[in-house]
Amino acid sequence: MKTAILLVALGLLLYRIPVRLEDKIPVVAYHYLATPQEIEQYEGSRLRYTVTTEVFEKHLQYLAEQGFYTISPEQLMAFSRLTGRAGEAPADLPPKPIIITFDDGTADFFNYAYPLLKRYGMSAYVFLIAAKENAPGYISNEQAREMAGSGMYIGSHSLTHRDLTEISEEELEKELFLSKELLENRLGLRVDLFSIPLGVYNERVLLAARRAGYRAIFTSDYDVFSFRNGDLSKIPRLAVKVEDKSLRTKLTIGSVMMGKIYYGLTGLFKSMLGFQRYQELRKTVIRFLDMIVTSEQSRPAGSWKLN
Ligand SMILES: [Zn+2]
Repeated sequence: MKTAILLVALGLLLYRIPVRLEDKIPVVAYHYLATPQEIEQYEGSRLRYTVTTEVFEKHLQYLAEQGFYTISPEQLMAFSRLTGRAGEAPADLPPKPIIITFDDGTADFFNYAYPLLKRYGMSAYVFLIAAKENAPGYISNEQAREMAGSGMYIGSHSLTHRDLTEISEEELEKELFLSKELLENRLGLRVDLFSIPLGVYNERVLLAARRAGYRAIFTSDYDVFSFRNGDLSKIPRLAVKVEDKSLRTKLTIGSVMMGKIYYGLTGLFKSMLGFQRYQELRKTVIRFLDMIVTSEQSRPAGSWKLN
């Protein structure tokens, strides 16, 4: 009993202690924003990866109060040159650097996140799915061009958003190279940031992405990016989900540790099973858990008690 209390107390304490950021850049990964009314309609993975506009604004307020500064890709590149010289930061790097990323390029970024980011004088890296050019519900060419001219950085999130580890060399080439070329032609700017779709990759994918000309590749591995091992070809991120109401908590030792365990395990399953089979297994487990919870609730109160 005592051990359990001690463990809980230690756990709670770890959720209070911030991660040491001296030699690190936190890269936070968002997907979707919604108003509190809209989020009521969401379910499944869309809901899991959505935060409300109110929560997002609170996150930005926290970053502003704490003096965080959203850095550009050029500043990120400068940071990475320090590999092996831990403890030193380049002169042009602000004291509290951070990177905000958004995957998938849905219209809610333009409608909600972009105005809030501008209001707080912050930037974000926005990763577009190239085949969704002007598709309903996604950022349009015109919007992307406007944002690129107003401090947002546009990257590729592949051509069609599929598991890159399970496709042929030729298809992989399309996902990486063609998406880059299409976005560059559409937007009239250089696209050298890439975010891996579905969080599944292997050495072959990383190599192909570098060959396609990407200078920074963002994964869904869960960690704070550190320049002690600052490998720009697989930058870990801190995925923000519906339950993440506070960025302060997100940047604590406890939260990062738990995230690493959770994403480490799901990553292992994804690479063992492939993304498709992982999703099926996940759905079955959720259905099973749902069944247990529902049958618990529908049981008459107290019927299982002995007295
Ligand atoms: Zn995605």
